[in-house]
Amino acid sequence: MNKKTICDIDVAGRRVLVRVDFNVPLDKETMRILDDTRIRAALPTISYLREQNAKIVLVSHLGRPDGKVVESARLAPVAARLAELLGVPVPCATDVVGASANAVVAALQPGDVAMLENVRFEPGEELNDPALAKQLAAFADVFVNDAFGTAHRPHASTAGIAASLPAVAGLLMEKEIDYLGRIVSNPQPPVAAIIGGAKISSKIAVLQHLLSKVSVLLIGGGMASTFLKARGIGVGSSLIEADQVATAQKVITDAGRAGVKLGLPIDVVVADRFAADAATRTIDIHNVPEGWMILDIGPKTVADYESRLRGVKTVVWNGPLGVAEWPPFAHGSHAVARFLAKLDATVVIGGGETVAMVTELGLASEYAHVSTGGGASLEFLEGKELPGVAALLDR
Ligand code: ADP
Ligand code: MG
Repeated sequence: MNKKTICDIDVAGRRVLVRVDFNVPLDKETMRILDDTRIRAALPTISYLREQNAKIVLVSHLGRPDGKVVESARLAPVAARLAELLGVPVPCATDVVGASANAVVAALQPGDVAMLENVRFEPGEELNDPALAKQLAAFADVFVNDAFGTAHRPHASTAGIAASLPAVAGLLMEKEIDYLGRIVSNPQPPVAAIIGGAKISSKIAVLQHLLSKVSVLLIGGGMASTFLKARGIGVGSSLIEADQVATAQKVITDAGRAGVKLGLPIDVVVADRFAADAATRTIDIHNVPEGWMILDIGPKTVADYESRLRGVKTVVWNGPLGVAEWPPFAHGSHAVARFLAKLDATVVIGGGETVAMVTELGLASEYAHVSTGGGASLEFLEGKELPGVAALLDR
């Protein structure tokens, strides 16, 4: 990575403000944390800073409170979970830059960790307001960005603050950029991409960017139907983006020109309506009945995709291959997830739903890298510079 990290700067005994991404899923009734992956992912940076006797101020957002205080989006449960993981108290301020935050920061001793309240309670956060950035910067001598999942947003706590403090990457940020960067710039060939999920429109930029990088491109999920339609195949009542058929056709043509082997479903699981308990059939791609919709790839497609993946050395996967949150339509995604877990290749997985799925399967540790950033990993793979990364000091 061409950016400085916490290992390149003196943090010993200094006040360090760390932007973390603790935007974890919470049970709306009990406020219990459903998945603490994002908190655990920040532990290497926090532990390193504690060893260096830094005074650590953590800043995160949670949910979308849109610039006002929302009781159900307070960070106290997150601080409590972090305290459990670290085995030390983690006081949590009840405001972002007010009296409570000031008091919490002032009380820090070397090696201590504290949290500010949900930074998106402040209207200036998402506006990248320089006044808020300065108030946050006043709490510290060094800024560390470890929030890869929010690095594609130019906010006060991810970008603006870097104007007032020496700004470096945390260890999670470094790991994300190293793995995803290698996929984009220097992957071990042959490279395959598996792209699924709901829509072409949200992934077209990454599809086009990857065409010049991969030798195998496998398509699944809702977007596969638009590709099939572009091929002239009947897809019944499947989710179609009518305005993207031409785009899909162009990807098919460009893939052919670039010598990319494009995989589209050859059989599918169809349902008579969009529901977890719909009637289902597994059929050849040319037999989709009127009124039925494609909700998963079928077993022949799984076998076909697996044979195309054998021998590749790098795989990037973004987007489930079917409606994987409903068991009848999860088989394709689960089969491919299990296959990739055993494949002798560098496998990098991104995308919110895709990552949640492999985590639930207990497979996350079987891949080279599972990204903590949904939108951020996608934008990175599109070749875009992320504002939260751009703001950091060059090495
Ligand atoms: P990720 O978050 O991993 O990037 P996306 O957000 O692009 O993935 O897409 C995930 C969503 O796509 C899931 O909610 C899933 O239900 C939906 N999806 C997958 N396959 C289909 C399909 N065949 N028809 C409709 N929706 C689908
Ligand atoms: Mg998603």
